[in-house]
Amino acid sequence: MFLPQLTRRDFLSGLLGAGATLAGCRQAADPDRPRSTATSTPGTVVMRDDPDFELWRTSMPWQLWKPDRQPDSIVRPESIDELAAAVQLARDKGWRITSRSGGHHVWGAMLRDDGMLIDMSRFREVRIDPEQGFADVGPAVWSDRLNRALAAEGLAFPVAHCASVPMGGYLMGGGFGLNGDEWGAMACFSVLEADVMTADGELLTVGPDQHEDLYWAVRGAGHGFPGIVSRYRLRLYPAPQDVRESVFVFPAGRLPEVGDWLRSAAATGMPNTELMCLLLDNPDAGPDAPPAMRKLCIARPVVFADSSAEAEQILAPLTAHPLAGEALFTNLLQPNTMQGLLEGSIDLRSGFGFGRYAVDTAWTNEPADALATVAAEFASAPSPKTHVVVLIKGNSELPEATALSRLTDTWIGSYAVWDRAEDTAANVDWLRQTSAALKPFAAGHSINELDAGVDPGKIERSFTPEAWARLEAIRAERDPDGRFHGFLQHT
Ligand SMILES: Cc1cc2nc3c(=O)[nH]c(=O)nc-3n(C[C@H](O)[C@H](O)[C@H](O)COP(=O)(O)OP(=O)(O)OC[C@H]3O[C@@H](n4cnc5c(N)ncnc54)[C@H](O)[C@@H]3O)c2cc1C
Repeated sequence: MFLPQLTRRDFLSGLLGAGATLAGCRQAADPDRPRSTATSTPGTVVMRDDPDFELWRTSMPWQLWKPDRQPDSIVRPESIDELAAAVQLARDKGWRITSRSGGHHVWGAMLRDDGMLIDMSRFREVRIDPEQGFADVGPAVWSDRLNRALAAEGLAFPVAHCASVPMGGYLMGGGFGLNGDEWGAMACFSVLEADVMTADGELLTVGPDQHEDLYWAVRGAGHGFPGIVSRYRLRLYPAPQDVRESVFVFPAGRLPEVGDWLRSAAATGMPNTELMCLLLDNPDAGPDAPPAMRKLCIARPVVFADSSAEAEQILAPLTAHPLAGEALFTNLLQPNTMQGLLEGSIDLRSGFGFGRYAVDTAWTNEPADALATVAAEFASAPSPKTHVVVLIKGNSELPEATALSRLTDTWIGSYAVWDRAEDTAANVDWLRQTSAALKPFAAGHSINELDAGVDPGKIERSFTPEAWARLEAIRAERDPDGRFHGFLQHT
């Protein structure tokens, strides 16, 4: 498709031609200044030749490693009318569209080389209906804010583990949430309905009985979804009254045994438990530390119970296992809260994007080989901030109506994290070497966190063949002109 590059003047005259007024087209110099609500104009508009454009462009991704990709315009609507006007403008100009809610996509899916980036960060309303057990939330609502609002009502949702992750992209790509296994396996399975702005600029409410195709796609299509969500309706759950976190520390090389241990405990049907395990650098290892002690494997089960006695009982299949006694260090059943877990995720050096990140993920059906492989690769990670997350899924049941279609009992996320721009190549090389080593054991990937750079086929392999074919058909029907950029293929 030919996508013209316009100057700011062309853009404004285009707006006027489309029936808009200059007064309604807000300038970008002060992104946070109060402004009136306008109809039939697209909200704050920043063009590529605007002096502030680079500031806006680089503020779209959450992290410090910014892709070079240059959209023609960035538009920030604040209302449905403004969102519709933005989509109409993109149609008038022949621009393609991407959307953003919080910019956490590590490979910067929201930044593309042409067209309009629609920043949904002002859609952050939360409305809770405690009687009916649902909440209506805007896509820019952070995990932290949603959890606080729900906790005040004695309710909960499987929000992301990091406080600043918003619902938009998180739910669109699946969502590994707190107590996720108990609350529906993946957070997107608790989406009851959504308001979706289509490529035609029409706002549709999609649900199990209306626009079923888009409802199917909104639950897991990731950045291939042909539309923009302006509201999710979410199923809520009773908030746990007694959250307990335990830690078992081993040398990193013992990851395969630890994975085995957690999987066998999960198979006993531990309710309300999240079984996570991390490979981390050991910050206390001095220069003389033996190699086995320089990198650690930390099993971190969290039980979302209603009393300490219940938590202890739930954890028993893990503590009764002989491996529990072999840990270098153990800290059992420490009291915490959902909010405490979220706040603990905010680390000023990494929790707010003050670092450079690259990520890749894999589901596996061959956990012993996959975990041995990733533990071996981790030994050569060039940055002490790099870590690996392993989730043992006690619940990998798929509902019928979801695009998300790859789940196994073991998920591996490799996170290369570094500070200096000059270290980027070494860290990305490490990530890609690790992914190549894991490839023989990968049964699929998470669409939200995958590196499609050297292997674009991973996008398709994030879905079953049937789900991929259905998603392609829905995209072709709902967005025949390819108005939405779709999946990111980057280098
Ligand atoms: C620090 C950190 C912690 C994380 N923790 C978790 C976690 O615990 N669990 C988990 O599952 N994931 C986690 N993630 C991954 C996260 O879910 C994805 O990066 C997700 O894309 C973030 O959502 P976002 O709205 O910020 O996405 P953005 O970066 O804003 O957008 C990414 C893409 O999502 C799509 N999108 C965004 N908003 C909309 C919308 N309103 N309508 C339609 N499409 C939209 C667009 O295609 C866009 O290109 C984490 C990421 C980071 C950086």
